[in-house]
Amino acid sequence: MTLVIRGQVISFASDGAVLHEPKGAVLVGGNGHIEWVGPANAIPAHAMSATMHDYGDKLVMPGLIDAHIHFPQYRMLAAPGRDLLDWLSRFTFPEEARYSDHAYAAVKAEIFLDRLLAHGTTTALTFCSVHKACADALFAAAERRNMALITGKTMMDRNAIPAVQDDPETGARESEELYKSWHSKGRLRYAVTPRFAVTSSEEQLRLSGELLKSLDGALIQTHISESAREIAMVKTLFPNAKDYTDVYDQFGLLSERSLLAHGIHLSERECQRLSETGSTVVHCATSNTFLGSGLMSMTHLQKAERPIHIGVGTDVGGGTSYSMLATLGETYKVQMLGGYKPTAAELFRMATIGNAQRLHIEDETGSLSVGKFADIAVIDPEATPVLKSRHELSQSLEDILFSLIILGDDRAIAATYVAGNRLHQKEAA
Ligand SMILES: [Zn+2]
Repeated sequence: MTLVIRGQVISFASDGAVLHEPKGAVLVGGNGHIEWVGPANAIPAHAMSATMHDYGDKLVMPGLIDAHIHFPQYRMLAAPGRDLLDWLSRFTFPEEARYSDHAYAAVKAEIFLDRLLAHGTTTALTFCSVHKACADALFAAAERRNMALITGKTMMDRNAIPAVQDDPETGARESEELYKSWHSKGRLRYAVTPRFAVTSSEEQLRLSGELLKSLDGALIQTHISESAREIAMVKTLFPNAKDYTDVYDQFGLLSERSLLAHGIHLSERECQRLSETGSTVVHCATSNTFLGSGLMSMTHLQKAERPIHIGVGTDVGGGTSYSMLATLGETYKVQMLGGYKPTAAELFRMATIGNAQRLHIEDETGSLSVGKFADIAVIDPEATPVLKSRHELSQSLEDILFSLIILGDDRAIAATYVAGNRLHQKEAA
């Protein structure tokens, strides 16, 4: 069965090009892949009798990609910690402890993924809790939806309550077992997931580096240089390291396949190393302002002589919204405070094809290109009275996109498709 999705088709290429068909259409083949994209009046003849979903002037865009989120924190938004370490010990670890129970995690995984889809997010790189059962539950729920989901069992063997700790040997063994069970099954992939240097011993970080080398195609995700107290603690825990980045570097954790959340307080030397190794820093603006962690500067990280790859993520539950639209709005504000004014198109590009490249899945998602899976968010630029009145003044695509990052959230998501299947549809008001 083929499907035609009509609307204002918009997609971003990594070279900065923007596809914009005001009266456009996307033709989806029976295997969930995009077969054709173009003006609606030029739909190929063989698709004339296909099922049609017509969204009028709404935006038909690539599904949004969240490059940093925590599944077991899905209901913890708005937990007010004094700073990162206080927030972790008071709220986060006790909540994550509940995910040792597979039945509990399985129920929550359904809610979590449906919530991502309701926010137009079709792919995420997500942390699980320390428990293997948690990762098993999330992988299974994502497989049922045919989502390109990347996750891993968190590894942490110190500086936390016992209920969320493992040990180096168990953490590595369970990671490998999960990789074997789920990596490359459907659209799923594995990420080696040491939480951060504060909660992993040298031995655990060493084993994480070995896993990254031995598990073909796996990513590695962790956190770096988020808050002042955290950085001071890493200095105490690893007295022989040059700095925070060097801790990960020593154990082989920096690579083209490495995604490190935050990167707010990085020194010149650290930026140099992150650039040389091709590592990605994932900017999580709503989390950084909420926890008072600091203002990450894209200008600093992307200096021409040593540019660092940058991804963008919500960091729920430190982040305050599941919405990548709201996250891009906060990214804009944080960068403005640092003296840099990104365009809305640039930010949407980061959250679609940009994040797909950072996650090494640009061959299958991130843009509306022929041959990729039809992962699509349909976005309504007039979803609320405030957006509607703003939209009346919009004169360009940039105006429309900009109003959506500042005023938009899940209310603006009219529908979400994963591999051509409509898995979310906003109820009529
Ligand atoms: Zn995080």
